[in-house]
Amino acid sequence: MAVIMDGKALSAKIREQIKSESAEFAKETGITPGLAVILVGDDNASKIYVRNKEKACAEVGFKSEMYLLEENTTEEELLSLVHKLNERDDIHGILVQSPLPKHLDEALVINNISPEKDVDAFHPVNVGKIMIGDYSFLPCTPAGVMEFLKEYGIDPTGKRCVVVGRSNIVGKPMAMLMLHANATVTVCHSKTRDLADITRQADIIVMAIGKAEFLKADMVKEGAVLIDVGMNRNADGKLTGDAAFEECEKKASFITPVPGGVGPMTITMLMKNTLTAAKNFYKKKG
Ligand code: NAP
Repeated sequence: MAVIMDGKALSAKIREQIKSESAEFAKETGITPGLAVILVGDDNASKIYVRNKEKACAEVGFKSEMYLLEENTTEEELLSLVHKLNERDDIHGILVQSPLPKHLDEALVINNISPEKDVDAFHPVNVGKIMIGDYSFLPCTPAGVMEFLKEYGIDPTGKRCVVVGRSNIVGKPMAMLMLHANATVTVCHSKTRDLADITRQADIIVMAIGKAEFLKADMVKEGAVLIDVGMNRNADGKLTGDAAFEECEKKASFITPVPGGVGPMTITMLMKNTLTAAKNFYKKKG
């Protein structure tokens, strides 16, 4: 039976560290880290994510500002808000909740966030920095995965890591972080042939495809580490990952559950990035 990696416990531990580090930083500099979150429209899931981010800020002692904009907000209005937040000294992180309504150009909006305040690490400047391994911020979900490995003493060096999914927010940066951690990395996607043959060779599998219980036990090598980023509803409406947990748990050495695995770590990493942004701001201001 696999060790179940507890995202709630790890998240609580890291938030405690962030809280005390932030308090110390505020004492030394008079600066309280500040995060602004912009939500456009009425998407219920997004509203929950935004509320959770606000709660997390309160928990670690950050200032937070939530901007809940109407669905029919124009690009000009949204960009004008982003530009104002870019200029403010008391806001160190800016996050625009995805997805945006169809009439708004998400890439354009991201490109207009100052890279120093881009705590999601989606701006091309930050994406490029991750590629060359010289970064301030890591995208929150892959960063959370790397924290799991560290916490459970799993060193990717020399290991065969298979990342299933190649999105810009999870799969690609995940592969890059594994590469920086000296794993031998294979990235799979919807056009990959003989996927099971590839996942069966993996010492570490990261699933990020958004397909409920797609990965079965016969696709997993005995003793593999299985990280499940997926968040899906299965046929019974239950929240579930991309791996069939019960059967894979018997094969893996370590496994993340859904819920309670990677999910809680994502917002915690956002808090970490906001603190880093505030510290960078202070250094730059001299
Ligand atoms: P996405 O943008 O939809 O990308 C999905 C990726 O999976 C694509 O690269 C796609 O391949 C690949 N894929 C789809 N079906 C496949 C199949 N049958 N075999 C192999 N590859 C397949 O999704 P995402 O934003 O990366 O999110 C992935 C999952 O993670 C979702 O369930 C999402 O809810 C979850 N998620 C969780 C968190 C968290 O905090 N826990 C954060 C972000 C995302 P192509 O490129 O060929 O289309």
